Amino acid sequence: MGNIEVPYHVKLGKSSKYVHLRFTQDLQLEVVIPPDARVDAQSVLKKKQAWIERKYDELSSRRCVFDAGSIMHKGRYLAIITVSPSKEGNEIEIKNDKIIIHVNGTKEPLSLLKEWMRKATSELLTSKLPVYATRFGLSLGSVSVKNTKRWGYCTKDGDLIFTWQLIALPDRLADYVMIHELTHLFEFNHSKRFWAKLASVCPDFKEQHRALSNICTTKSADLNAHELLNLDR
Ligand SMILES: [Zn+2]
Repeated sequence: MGNIEVPYHVKLGKSSKYVHLRFTQDLQLEVVIPPDARVDAQSVLKKKQAWIERKYDELSSRRCVFDAGSIMHKGRYLAIITVSPSKEGNEIEIKNDKIIIHVNGTKEPLSLLKEWMRKATSELLTSKLPVYATRFGLSLGSVSVKNTKRWGYCTKDGDLIFTWQLIALPDRLADYVMIHELTHLFEFNHSKRFWAKLASVCPDFKEQHRALSNICTTKSADLNAHELLNLDR
């Protein structure tokens, strides 16, 4: 299709009257055809070519925090390397484009890495959130770092929660997440008023929002798969 190759499969739907196109998580195109209809899949694909190409582009540019043996840190991928304990007692260090985990025998490399990211995220929040809160004229309530799939969210009580993976984002996007959540302390929804308030502090929020939607956190369940870290190499 154009100059890209899109793997696809055809499936019989159950009750639908129409042909449905959707992409599965592994970027396979699924063509769902109603059971009692005579449809030529090829002609459907031809007709929908523009949509398929656009969607494929959108989905294939999506990046995750953990990606086959590397981890995103401040917007840049670092290869994950495990080595023996360091004399200085460092557990994690960044050198060039690598993140080096000094395995100390008592903890799994993955938990060392997670702890380190959680701490780096906490430090980032501690240094920046109060500055933005002041800009909004707000006093901060409770802020916590949790294992959540979302970049951040806020509760009706005004508590702010951020994912421990926040440190993966480029600075400007981590800032955007903080500003976005602070805005929710005024507007607990995504109404017009919310976006207007956000724009008053972050005029290019649309661009940031779009960039953020192309990066996803890695689910804890996926993280436990060792091949993601390439630790067995
Ligand atoms: Zn929101």
